[in-house]
Amino acid sequence: MDSICIKARAKINLALDVLRKREDGYHDVRMIMQSISLHDDVFLSLIDEKSIRISCDKVWVPSNSDNIAYKAAKVLMDKFDLQKGIDIKIVKNIPVAAGLAGGSANAAAVLKGMNELFSLNLEQEELMQIGKTIGADVPFCIKGGTMLAEGIGEILSDIEPLKNVDIVLVKPKISVSTAWVYKNLNIEKIVLRPDTDYIIGLIEKGDLQNLGRKMVNVLETVTVKKYEIINEIKEKLIKLGAFGSMMSGSGPTVFGIFENKLTAQKAYEEINNDDRWDCILTETFYEER
Ligand code: ATP
Repeated sequence: MDSICIKARAKINLALDVLRKREDGYHDVRMIMQSISLHDDVFLSLIDEKSIRISCDKVWVPSNSDNIAYKAAKVLMDKFDLQKGIDIKIVKNIPVAAGLAGGSANAAAVLKGMNELFSLNLEQEELMQIGKTIGADVPFCIKGGTMLAEGIGEILSDIEPLKNVDIVLVKPKISVSTAWVYKNLNIEKIVLRPDTDYIIGLIEKGDLQNLGRKMVNVLETVTVKKYEIINEIKEKLIKLGAFGSMMSGSGPTVFGIFENKLTAQKAYEEINNDDRWDCILTETFYEER
């Protein structure tokens, strides 16, 4: 085999709590991560020249060593002194800088694909250890499914998977940097935090209605203050029948969870009629292990 295509799946957060700022500048978090079907395609091919080539169909994504997928390839090339090179082509469907971990998913796809192409025979756990050195969300993107993420996001525990839950994503056409959100978060002043253990119980029971009501993302305290549009979208999704609606990660994407395909489809068609945002109909993703 000298080429492979890996689906790099996006994630949403069903709960996001920030516990403290660490001395190294990172934050300790407690979040529930959920893979969704929305994915980029990452095409990998072996090349004879010992180098990394990278391209992306979206011009605003870096096509050089700044791309996190490039960094993932470089880590493996150096660590295992690989004697061939790799060509990476990314076809983007995941909105960029949107709170959906698109970059981390691309890096995870490169690690998984190169493990196959170079017959490195690394176990998933070893790939996750390497992933952690590239980005806090990369280990989750390697594993996927429904997980509790602690530490800086890299300590993962399994949660009973949420299968085939219909989701509408709404990405307002604004840019919100993750660094800005964390910088402006006042951890001492957070009033409403998610009851993460209770939410895990709801997920395990498949109680979508109460899950929708109980979801909390503390980072909304920062973004909603500056971008009223995030609240507007949340309220619209609820009016259109979502069991719950929340911002994913550091935003600005907002998602709604729906009872079934029909209600999700209807809501999608209604909310998609506004050029202030882009909408995507998707569902939770689960892979049999
Ligand atoms: P997270 O939820 O992990 O904060 P995100 O979904 O908010 O991630 P990304 O889509 O990963 O954000 O992009 C963040 C930044 O990283 C962008 O500004 C982009 O220029 C840069 N970047 C580097 N490599 C990639 C990549 N492969 N895909 C998308 N963005 C990338």
